[in-house]
Amino acid sequence: MTRLATSDRIRSAGPLAMRPQQRADYLLRRLTELYPNPPVPLDHKDPYTLLIAVLLSAQCTDVRVNQVTPALFALADNPHAMMQVPVEDIRAIIRPCGLSPRKSAAISELSRILVANHGGQVPADFAPLEALPCVGHKTASVVMAQAFGVPAFPVDTHIHRLATRWHLTTGKNVVQTERDLKKWFPRESWNRLHLQIIYYGREHCSARGCDGKSCLLCRELLD
Ligand code: SF4
Repeated sequence: MTRLATSDRIRSAGPLAMRPQQRADYLLRRLTELYPNPPVPLDHKDPYTLLIAVLLSAQCTDVRVNQVTPALFALADNPHAMMQVPVEDIRAIIRPCGLSPRKSAAISELSRILVANHGGQVPADFAPLEALPCVGHKTASVVMAQAFGVPAFPVDTHIHRLATRWHLTTGKNVVQTERDLKKWFPRESWNRLHLQIIYYGREHCSARGCDGKSCLLCRELLD
């Protein structure tokens, strides 16, 4: 009897015949083949500079953030220094990232809070992180994963779309998608897998005209 390759077995089985766990195991292996060591895309040197970079990345590309942060961090690269910079000066530097009135106010205020309440350090815990201005669960998850190495699964639009296409979630929102992904993938894979899916989505995903099977892994899984 001819032994089928995994991708052929998956194709012949069809997406609905496969258990989600099989799909997840297959994806983890393939994504690790495609992106063995995915780098953190936002330039930073410590938890504080990562937190600021992630905050700036809301509705902005990582490339643009990396163009802006050198000038900002030359001015102030820690909460003590940043809280003394006039908000207008922060705003002028970060303007290319968009939403600059809100983001500059948040950078100034969260720096003040870090000094007042956390000894000038970024807390390595979800609750105090999410209590900071402009820091939601996704931003806190990125900081926990990439600055502190705590397993987390930040879900952005690429990850949400792909998890849905790969039939790993029926989530109508990122909260449910995060819960489902954590269920299918081993905890020790979460931090790297989050980056691997982001890189895959950036390379292959197009919001326009997606039929769910026109790109590499979608085709392997869903044909
Ligand atoms: S088929 Fe392409 S565009 Fe659609 S979800 Fe898959 S990778 Fe993204």
